[in-house]
Amino acid sequence: MQLLKDKILNEGKVLPGNILKVDGFLNQQLDIRLLNEIGKEFAFLFKDLGVNKILTVESSGIALACVASQNMGNVPVVFGKKHKTLKRGEDFYAAKIFSFTHNREYEVTINKEFISKDDVILIVDDFLANGEAVNGLMDIIKQADAKLVGVGIAVEKGFQGGGDKLREQGLRVESLAIVENMDNGKITFR
Ligand code: 5GP
Repeated sequence: MQLLKDKILNEGKVLPGNILKVDGFLNQQLDIRLLNEIGKEFAFLFKDLGVNKILTVESSGIALACVASQNMGNVPVVFGKKHKTLKRGEDFYAAKIFSFTHNREYEVTINKEFISKDDVILIVDDFLANGEAVNGLMDIIKQADAKLVGVGIAVEKGFQGGGDKLREQGLRVESLAIVENMDNGKITFR
């Protein structure tokens, strides 16, 4: 998606450790015009698949999942929680995810009430790097015996290989911008 690529080139910052900082439009301040276009694009890419639920992880995936839903018949958005709370009860699915940006493992949980075997699910997230977050959500979808039909990502860091591993497994992964290289702060796309 050219609009997203232009935003990354104009406003993205490459930080040490292969981190692309996009706080100005995706991760802290949100560019709603861009988000709306992303939502439309996900809806176009994943139309006619019978998606009845969009799954993501808090926090940055939520806005993207919501704009996708608005263009996909307002299907419910469910997000995995990263923080343990007393309210979560006992009846939840859980998966371990290693966070690339925080360099630690965390547990993502989803109340069993919100995913069932009848669900046809689209995963949406802001970034795809090593694929850990998507793998964690796939684990939960498997536990719930639900069906996964695709993964929609705003920015994939292609050089980390997570997206291609998922595609090799036969999963439909659509990324709106795939960064192939960002050595020396210079960003190039696939
Ligand atoms: P993965 O689980 O695929 O290794 O990494 C994806 C997750 O880590 C995303 O949910 C995102 O929050 C975070 N992430 C990974 N790489 C980057 C990056 O370069 N920039 C930002 N802003 N987030 C990233």
